Amino acid sequence: MTDYKRILVTAALPYANGPLHIGHLAGCYLPADIYCRYQRSQQRDIKFVGGSDEHGVPITIRALKEGVTPRQVVDKYHEMIKSSLADMHISFDIYSRTSNPIHHETAAGFFKTLYDKGLFEEKETEQYYDEKAKLFLADRYITGTCPICGNPNAFGDQCEKCGSSLSPEQLIDPRSTLSDAVPIKKKTTHWYFPLQDYESWLREWILEGHKEWKNNVYGQCKSWLDSGLQSRAMTRDSNWGIKVPLPGAEGKVLYVWFDAPIGYISATKELTEHWQDYWCREDTKLVHFIGKDNIVFHCIIFPAMLKAHGDFVLPDNVPANEFLNIEGEKVSTSRNWAVWVHEYLRDFPDQQDVLRYVLCSNAPETKDNDFTWRDFQERNNSELVAIFGNFINRTMVLMHKLCNGKVPPFHNELIDDADRQLIADIQQAKARVEDGLEHFKFRDALFEVMDLSRKANKYMQDKQPWIVARELGKDPSAQKLIDNCLHLCLQLTANLAIFIYPFLPDTAKKIQHMLKVVDRMLEWKNGGTLKLLSVGYSLRAPELLFRKIEDAEIEKQVNKLRAGVISSPGAPASGTAQADTAAATGSGKTTTGPSAIGAAGATGVTGPSAANATDGSSMTEPGAATAGLPPVKPQIVYDDFAKLDFRTGIIISAEKVAKADKLLKLEIDLGFETRTIVSGIAQHFSPESLTGKQVVVVANLAPRKMKGIESNGMILMAEDAAGKLHFINSDGPVAPGLSIS
Ligand SMILES: [Zn+2]
Repeated sequence: MTDYKRILVTAALPYANGPLHIGHLAGCYLPADIYCRYQRSQQRDIKFVGGSDEHGVPITIRALKEGVTPRQVVDKYHEMIKSSLADMHISFDIYSRTSNPIHHETAAGFFKTLYDKGLFEEKETEQYYDEKAKLFLADRYITGTCPICGNPNAFGDQCEKCGSSLSPEQLIDPRSTLSDAVPIKKKTTHWYFPLQDYESWLREWILEGHKEWKNNVYGQCKSWLDSGLQSRAMTRDSNWGIKVPLPGAEGKVLYVWFDAPIGYISATKELTEHWQDYWCREDTKLVHFIGKDNIVFHCIIFPAMLKAHGDFVLPDNVPANEFLNIEGEKVSTSRNWAVWVHEYLRDFPDQQDVLRYVLCSNAPETKDNDFTWRDFQERNNSELVAIFGNFINRTMVLMHKLCNGKVPPFHNELIDDADRQLIADIQQAKARVEDGLEHFKFRDALFEVMDLSRKANKYMQDKQPWIVARELGKDPSAQKLIDNCLHLCLQLTANLAIFIYPFLPDTAKKIQHMLKVVDRMLEWKNGGTLKLLSVGYSLRAPELLFRKIEDAEIEKQVNKLRAGVISSPGAPASGTAQADTAAATGSGKTTTGPSAIGAAGATGVTGPSAANATDGSSMTEPGAATAGLPPVKPQIVYDDFAKLDFRTGIIISAEKVAKADKLLKLEIDLGFETRTIVSGIAQHFSPESLTGKQVVVVANLAPRKMKGIESNGMILMAEDAAGKLHFINSDGPVAPGLSIS
């Protein structure tokens, strides 16, 4: 690893057309904050910059629909987002906004530099245009009937009912979602950035040079690069945004994805006159925290822009998170399926750390994860209260009771194996937490902190100083044994304050207050040692760090979430489709959809992940039970379906399983291998009747033991009203092992 002199951390610019929800926090703000707090605790030179993204057509559309100005829209949401982030203790050094003059100047200057270098291609194309609303339309803003499944509310880029990728030309009866007008085609001129010219450099830089990037990030970059890059329009027709700094370019603004990442540079300029140290010197480590929907912009487009410009450093890492779902469903701001940060703060005052804890321990670092209120309660009550809080509270109470409220001495002559083990555990924990934090594995790092407090609880439980106390006055070593136990537990408490600080800063402060130690003592370098508290030093009275969360509080939240759902099939309400897609992670802009509005924006960047970047806003409610049929299960996203591997198979042999009258052991030919599957169909079929039968197998189900036999998969069956089972089959013989999708 290069020896860096300073670190610059950015977190995705949230789109200023809606409030912040917990998916945003989990996606990038919380991990970025944890990273920055840790680096500061290491006394490193670090700056943490961010701000609101206030341009783009969804904002003008929202303003149009609400009858206000775009300025009013962004003013409102910028303030809301800014205070939610501050209230959650996201420790930005600056939280700016892209409507600031310094940003307009910086972004326009950046564009002009590339223009003067002759890097843009000027092209005239035909775009969809809404004559009533007087706006060019992105595919997402055109709806009509899906030619494949007949869904009357398909979008111009995709039908969310059948999942087909579409173009507006394919829609039957197309109309604008803004005015209901039939869109027409109109000529317009824009400036295109030739991404393909940077393809081989990007391949080298990412695929060869950054193999250490997270798998989800590296994999997405590779698939974009493998599918080939094309020119992309960097300007749009609009009056809201950064004016294209060229003569004759009236009515044209910079594409929001061109200007937004430059916002990181502008914010740094606003923060410090030494901004060039952070942006223009090779010994700076630049890290972008984002959600997965922004990977292409931060790993491919922005670096290509920076490379083309030539003055700036490139990101060293882009640790993107996947999506956080809520109670099993994808976040949707248009359906109001979200947990809003400002509402959480109102309902759970002073409990920022609980949310931070739950979001970090369940962070979608490698795959989409689910937030549920029950899990929130469980993690609070059985981890924060019962383990971490309990240990520190017991330590403080016992120290006051058995050691006169002072740090007791440690009597070396009485040290035993349990003490030695605990000391080793503290040192080991420090190394592990540090390793996790340096490598963006925040869940693992937090787990190590909790694991140390678990071990501490066990140590205390084994030592039982309250039992030893019965021997006081009888056994001369009793006080010394108590001293040793509490001395170590107090030093460990101070260590926990250091280790938990990046994750739960309020909790660290509370511990620090009880222990009366100065900030300097709790710097990272002091972690792992037993010299944090001086012997004889008197400490404050214990205060509880966490409180139990009751069932009633959780029920209230679950009911509120369910009651607040807006069923809005079809077109996105008030232009919030953009917020939806970004909803689950960090920012507001996506690969497809509204960001492409007004120009042939999607050209070249509707890559392989494009289909995943859209929100299921044409959600249908789970159907009710009809005519004895079970109700439809909650909706899933395509990604969930794609995880299942269905294959064709042929039953080679079948036999009864001893002592199990429902089970048959089947050997199934899957083309590439023979599988053993245990199936509960013995009461429906005789083993002899099954040989040679064609079946559909779930081929990637985790193995499971039944009656001592390992079953490797499952056969699909349909059950009729009478409880009779039927095989699911093809219309004729097919080879085994074929993939079904
Ligand atoms: Zn369809």
